[in-house]
Amino acid sequence: MTSVRVGICGLGTVGAGVVNLLQCNRDEILRKTGIRIDVAQIGCRRDNAECDISQVPTTRDIFDVVKNPDVDIVVELIGGTDVALELVKQALTNGKHVVTANKALIAQHGDEMFALADTFGVGLKFEASIAGGIPIVKAIREGLAGNRIERLAGIINGTSNYILTEMEASGSRTFDDVLVEAQGLGYAEADPTFDVEGIDAAHKLTLLSSIAFGVPLRFDAIYTEGISKVTSEDMRYAREFGYRIKHLGITTKSERGIELRVHPTLIEKTHLLAQVNGVMNAVLVDSDAAGQTLYYGAGAGGGPTASSVVADLIDLARDSSHGGRIPNLGFVTEALQKLPILNINETQSCFYLRLHVLDQPGVLARISSILAEHNISIESLIQKDARKALAPIAIITDDIVEQALVTAIAELEALDEVVGVVTRIRVESF
Ligand code: NAP
Repeated sequence: MTSVRVGICGLGTVGAGVVNLLQCNRDEILRKTGIRIDVAQIGCRRDNAECDISQVPTTRDIFDVVKNPDVDIVVELIGGTDVALELVKQALTNGKHVVTANKALIAQHGDEMFALADTFGVGLKFEASIAGGIPIVKAIREGLAGNRIERLAGIINGTSNYILTEMEASGSRTFDDVLVEAQGLGYAEADPTFDVEGIDAAHKLTLLSSIAFGVPLRFDAIYTEGISKVTSEDMRYAREFGYRIKHLGITTKSERGIELRVHPTLIEKTHLLAQVNGVMNAVLVDSDAAGQTLYYGAGAGGGPTASSVVADLIDLARDSSHGGRIPNLGFVTEALQKLPILNINETQSCFYLRLHVLDQPGVLARISSILAEHNISIESLIQKDARKALAPIAIITDDIVEQALVTAIAELEALDEVVGVVTRIRVESF
C-alpha cells in the first residue's frame, strides 16, 4: 500500500470540511484508490471547533507547510490573491502538487501558475473553485473530452440565485430587503459586492471558458453585470412574458471569437435552468456530440466544496502512485465487497394505491383496518364519485417495507367490495 501526504493551509469552512471528509471517508477512499491520504500538516492561524486536528501536526505559519519535505500535496484554502499567490508559487517551486478552491486566484493568476506547475512537473487542480460540489471541471475535461463545446451557461453564484429566487417568490420584496435576510442566514457576506455585482461568477466563468474552449484565462476581458438593479417589477413583467430572471454566466465560441459575459438574463420559465432555486448552482453545456447536458448541485458549503477538493487529491494520489489509472469499477478489485442485493420485497418506499370499490357501508373502514394491521399509515386519500355503484379510491401511504404492502394488497383484493386488482406505484422523494 502506498500513501500520499497532504498539507492543508487554512482551516475555515472548506479547510474543516476537507479534514472531516478525509477522516470520515478514509476507508472508502482507500477502497477506491488503494492509497492512504494522510494529512501530514495543517497550517492555520487558529483551531476550528468544526474539526478535530488533535492527531495532526499543526503550524501557525502556513509557509511551513510548503517547505515541509513530508508534504507531497499542498491544499490552499486561505482565499484571496496576495498571500495565496505567494503560497502556491512557493509550493509549486518546491515540487509540490497544489489543490485549491480559490477561483479569484486561478482566474487572475492561473496562466502564470500553470506555467510554473509545468516547469516543476507538478499538478495544480481547482475543481472546488467552480460550483462547489458539482464536478464540472471533470465533466468538461474528461466526460465531454470527445466533444467540441459550443456554449456554456451557468447559475454559478448561490448568493445571487438565492436573492433572485426570494424576490420572485414573494412578488414584492426588494433586492436590499432580501440581501439583508441572506446576510442573516449566512448566504451572503457582510460585504456582498463580490457576489451580487457578479465578480465571483466572473471568476468562475473565466475558468469554465478556458477549460471548455482551450483559451488562456481572460478575467480582464469579461463583461460583468450584477443583480443589484433587478427589481420585483422586472420580475413581474418577465413572468407575464413567460420568463424568469436568473443571473447567468455565459460563454460561447464562434468564428468571431469568444463571448464571455455575466449578467441577469430572462430565460423561459419552463427551462430546467429556470427551476434552479435558492443557493443551488447549475451549469448547462452545449456540445456537438453529447448535445445539451446539465449539471446541478450545491455550489458552496464545507461538505460540497470539500468533496471537490478531495476528488482532486484522489486524482493526484492516483497519478503519483499508478500513473492515474482508475480501477474499472472505481474501486480496487480486492476491495470490492460482495454485499447481498436486496429482494424487491425488502425495499422500502411510499406507495400510491388505486382501487375500485362497490358503494357499500363500512368499505373505507375495512380498507383502513387492513392497512393498519400491516402498520401501513395513510398519508392522503381521495375518494371521488362516492355515490356511484363502483367508485375509485386513491391512497398515498407512508414509507413501508414492500412485503407488508404485498400482503395487504392480497387481503384488499380478497374483499368482496374491492373489484379487480389494486394498482400500486412506488412514490420516491429526492
Ligand atoms: P474561510 O472560512 O474564511 O477560511 C479561510 C481560512 O484561511 C481561515 O481559517 C483563515 O484564518 C485562514 N487564513 C486566511 N489568511 C491566512 C493567512 N495569511 N495565514 C493563515 N491562515 C490564513 O474561507 P472558506 O469559506 O473556507 O474559503 C476558502 C477558499 O475556498 C476561498 O478561496 C473560497 O473562495 C473558496 N471556496 C469557498 C466555498 C465555501 O462554500 N465557503 C466554496 C467554494 C470555494 P483566520 O480564521 O485566522 O482568518
